[in-house]
This record gives sequence, structure tokens and C-alpha cells, in this order.
Amino acid sequence: MTKTFNIASIPGDGIGPEVTAEGFKILQTIEKLDPSLRFQSKEFPWGCEFYSRHGKMMDDDGIEQLKPFDAIYLGAVGYPGVPDHISLWDLLLRIRKSFDQYVNIRPITLLDGVTSPLRSEYADIDMLVIRENSEGEYAGAGDRLFQGTKEEVALQTGVFSRKGTERIIRYAFEEARAAGKSVTSISKGNALNYSMVFWDEVFEEVSRDYPGITTYSYLVDAASMFFVTDPARFEVVVTSNLFGDILTDLGAGLTGGLGLAAGANVNPTKEYPSMFEPIHGSAPDIAGGQKANPLAAIWSVSQMLDFFGEEAWGKKVLQAIEKTLTDGDVLTPDMGGTATTAEAGSKVASCLESMM
Ligand code: ATP
Ligand code: MG
Repeated sequence: MTKTFNIASIPGDGIGPEVTAEGFKILQTIEKLDPSLRFQSKEFPWGCEFYSRHGKMMDDDGIEQLKPFDAIYLGAVGYPGVPDHISLWDLLLRIRKSFDQYVNIRPITLLDGVTSPLRSEYADIDMLVIRENSEGEYAGAGDRLFQGTKEEVALQTGVFSRKGTERIIRYAFEEARAAGKSVTSISKGNALNYSMVFWDEVFEEVSRDYPGITTYSYLVDAASMFFVTDPARFEVVVTSNLFGDILTDLGAGLTGGLGLAAGANVNPTKEYPSMFEPIHGSAPDIAGGQKANPLAAIWSVSQMLDFFGEEAWGKKVLQAIEKTLTDGDVLTPDMGGTATTAEAGSKVASCLESMM
């Protein structure tokens, strides 16, 4: 019996189309190796170029158009001249909010063949950071008072609902249970005396439903230090929107940089599509020249396969990325090589074929 997955592709701007093409190359390779799997895709030409022609980032009924798909595969959006708040709010955040993609999943894993800026004896890094993706410090709640006067005050309020806090922490425990790992909560209860004290309480409550799972709790400042001095102590990490944003970029820096960092925006109920993307932007400085590293975009395909329940393939794709890195003969310039984006993608595809 054939299993068909429908993917909405939004290649976007800059290097987005170049790197997502390599992601699809990997999916086509899998179809060839496993005839029981079919990946059907439809491309949506949305992004900043679309904005420059139509005055909007996506069709008015774009959300309706995306709804029937199993997943969204996004390249990057961004363009010199289109302010970030438009490209972000009118497309990325609209999709995240409309489809209630409240879980942001960032694998922070140091693969063989990648040199970490950390001294090697400390560089045992393999964690999954679960970031709250729908509220918290980024809820957009606040005010500007007495503008233009000497008494001016800006307020930014974090919003931590019981529903929102509980569901993200529970998601982390479910991931940890499936993987047989510990859960670490990262918060700041000593300084943020409402929101983070509440977060810590909910973490404590939810942990009681998972008696077999080891838990740790860190303040974000201490956790930042341990990310660098002893990253091996972290397995599944759950944290708020702001702290997750910062810590995952720190994690990307420790494990090979933007060319290797992938992320998923997930609605675990599967009521709506989830979205998979390399976390880098459109990189206009190298766009159009086949200079971009496609490994981050391919890693996000691995995450998509996991989400589809095809974990064996997700794992194989990650192993093929790792083989590409340890072979080291076909790498893009950011990793010290001379290969084009397409050559690097083909290398991963041939590593995948050679593993069969
Ligand atoms: P945007 O406005 O869309 O966020 P940006 O200029 O901030 O774009 P990013 O893509 O976020 O650019 O990355 C910053 C820099 O990192 C880029 O200018 C580029 O040189 C480098 N970079 C990012 N992604 C990659 C990649 N996949 N391969 C190689 N270099 C990359
Ligand atoms: Mg950027």
C-alpha cells in the first residue's frame, strides 16, 4: 500500500528556493528507494518578491489554501527593502498562529565532521530544545506611555496561560518518554516573579504525571553557561518563547552554525499542517549563486519525516548528512568547501543511496 504525503512548498526569497530544491531532491531519492512512499508537493510563490508585486506576502485566502496539506516546507522569507515586521507578521507568524503551531522543535546536535568552537572534550552535544511558540514574552502585549516626553515608559508583558504552559511542558515530557531521556526546564523564577514562578509550578505539576522521567530545572543564566561548559547534561529541554529563541541560536553556534540549523513549528494535534524550515534567513548576500549550504534545509526534511511517522527515514537522512560531513569532499564554502548547493544536495542523496 502506498502512503502519500502532501506537502505545501513555500520556497520564498533569496537562497530559499536553492536550498528547498535540495530538500525535494532527498524526498525524491526516498521515493526511488521506497516505492511505498509518495511525496506530492504544490508550490506557492509567496514571500517578499510576491509582496513587491502584489503588496502582500501571500494570497488573502492563503491560510485556507494551506489547510489541506500534511506539512508546509518553507525556504526563507526576507528581502532588502521589505521591513522584517511585514515579512515576519504577514507570512510566518500568520501561519504559526492560524495553525496553532505552538511547539518549536530545534535539534541541537553536534554531528561528526563538524568542528564546534568548544574544546572537543566538552563537545558532546545532543539535545532537543522544545520552545514555546505561541505566547510568553512574544505575545505582543504591552504599551507605550507618555510618548515623546521625559516620562516615557515602554511596557512589554509576558503572557503565560495555564493552557499554553501546560501543553508545551507536556509535549516535552512525551518526547522524553518516547526517547527514554530526561527533561530540563529552563526558566527564571528568581527574577520574573509572576510568569516564571507560574512556569516552575506547572512544570512541577506536569512532572508528577511522568514519575519515571528524570527532571532538572535551571535558571536561564546558569543554563547559558552550562550550554557552553557542559552541554552533555541537557537532553530534552523545555523553555519559553524568548529564552528558547536565544538558547537555540547559542546551540546553533555550538553545532555548526546557520547552514546546519533546522527547526519545526508543530501543531501536535495534526488538526492543521505543521511547518518545517531551515532557521536561516534569505541571505541576500549569497543568493542566486549556488553558494548556500542546503544541509539545514535537508535536516528539516528529516524532521518532517519524523513528524510523518517515518522515523526510520528521518534517521537515515540525518545519517546521510553526517556522512556528507565526515567525507568532507563535497561541502559548500561556509563549511570550508568549494561545492555548489546542488552538488552538496546530490552528495547527501548519494550517501542515502549508499546506505541501503
Ligand atoms: P533575512 O533578512 O532573510 O533574515 P539575513 O541577511 O538576516 O536574511 P540570514 O540568512 O539570517 O541572513 O543569515 C546571515 C548570514 O549567514 C547570511 O548573510 C549568509 O552569509 C550566512 N548564511 C545564512 N544561511 C546560510 C546558508 N544556508 N549557507 C551559507 N551561508 C548562510
Ligand atoms: Mg535575519
